Amino acid sequence: MSLIVQKYGGTSMGSPERIREVARRVARFAREGHKLVIVPSAMAGETNRLLALAKEINAEAQPRELDVIASTGEQVSIGLLAIALHGMGLKAKSYTGWQVPIVTDAAYSKARILGIEERNIREDLERGEIVIVAGFQGIDDDNNITTLGRGGSDTTGVALAAALKADECQIYTDVDGVYTTDPRIAPEARRLDKITFEEMLELASLGSKVLQIRSVEFAGKYKVKLRVLSSFTDVNSTDMGTLITFEEDEDMEQAIISGIAYNRDEAKISVLGVPDRPGIAFAILDPIAGANIDVDMIIQNASTEAITDFSFTVHRNEYQRAMKILETKVKPAIAARGVVGDDRIAKVSLVGIGMRTHAGIASKMFGALAREGINIQMISTSEIKTSVVVDEKYMELAVRVLHKEFELDKPPTTERMKP
Ligand code: ADP
Ligand code: ASP
Ligand code: MG
Repeated sequence: MSLIVQKYGGTSMGSPERIREVARRVARFAREGHKLVIVPSAMAGETNRLLALAKEINAEAQPRELDVIASTGEQVSIGLLAIALHGMGLKAKSYTGWQVPIVTDAAYSKARILGIEERNIREDLERGEIVIVAGFQGIDDDNNITTLGRGGSDTTGVALAAALKADECQIYTDVDGVYTTDPRIAPEARRLDKITFEEMLELASLGSKVLQIRSVEFAGKYKVKLRVLSSFTDVNSTDMGTLITFEEDEDMEQAIISGIAYNRDEAKISVLGVPDRPGIAFAILDPIAGANIDVDMIIQNASTEAITDFSFTVHRNEYQRAMKILETKVKPAIAARGVVGDDRIAKVSLVGIGMRTHAGIASKMFGALAREGINIQMISTSEIKTSVVVDEKYMELAVRVLHKEFELDKPPTTERMKP
């Protein structure tokens, strides 16, 4: 008998019939004798609907109230799942984030989990209850409801598994595991039976929304055994989905590139004609950081006649705010020539720990994109990834072209591993 945390995403919870199906799967694990903590997301589309409703009433809605509104989607789900399980004769009890409590910092809409008081859950489990905890939400020290960022139910699931020292955290979703890229964009994408934690972290941080980045970080920190599986298989299916592993064991695929991620959520900003002198990067980015806006890629050109351009990307939701800060505060302070931006860009990234030991991956990538006439606007590299920013309209094409170029549809062979 083991303790399993199962998280079910929005599509998995998307209708009364889907919720009954989730209940049937949970019932199967309960019958097998496992202790279960279930973390459902809001029903598909519900979080978007709630946020759109709020924006319709007040486009400048305060973040605190947006979290009060958005968190209700999951509250409905936990209640519906509990009554579905009751209807099947099982003991189940629901908790919202604050009832647990799941304590977070006060960063509305992107709060971080600081701690989980798991005592009540343990007692319920001992009494034979199936415990259902709302994903995506928590409470801060001042009793404000917070949410954990889009896709945050994954993080609730993994954080609970860490706090309860669960044997496994299973993320049930609408695909049957982690693929070489989003199978909705490249149908030839291949499912991976295992992926290293490091690669999953990189894919998630570069936009693969199959797992929220923070859930992978939690899994790494607390060594949570994490698996991605489908909730659309038969409830008795023994398919094991994709396991996120901490060690590269021998039977693992030795691919140079393990996957391709994309991200449509960013916007590019350039500050033009800035003086090339010490303190300029700080003068541009400090007010942005001060407004709690995260910056991703940063590029500063070599200067000609002591004048240069400085470009960076931010989350698309924060584009307008960042532009305003640059126009009103930064531009006059550093006497820049202008500020221009583009929120119709996308980032496409190749990920693989094999890149460490293989040269020429980036140039092969650039060559493939050039042959399709796709212009690269920004580039960023690390030991295990190469990212490019392209016009949003070429994003899907870029993903498919690179998937083909690096033959990710085929299992890696020794031949292909040669540099
Ligand atoms: P859920 O609602 O279950 O949390 P999400 O939509 O957040 O589901 O995440 C699952 C989706 O992630 C899939 O439907 C798929 O389109 C997308 N996805 C992106 N990259 C990958 C990948 N490498 N492997 C599998 N799915 C991916
Ligand atoms: N319901 C939230 C969202 O749509 C959290 C989640 O699904 O993980 O982002
Ligand atoms: Mg998700």
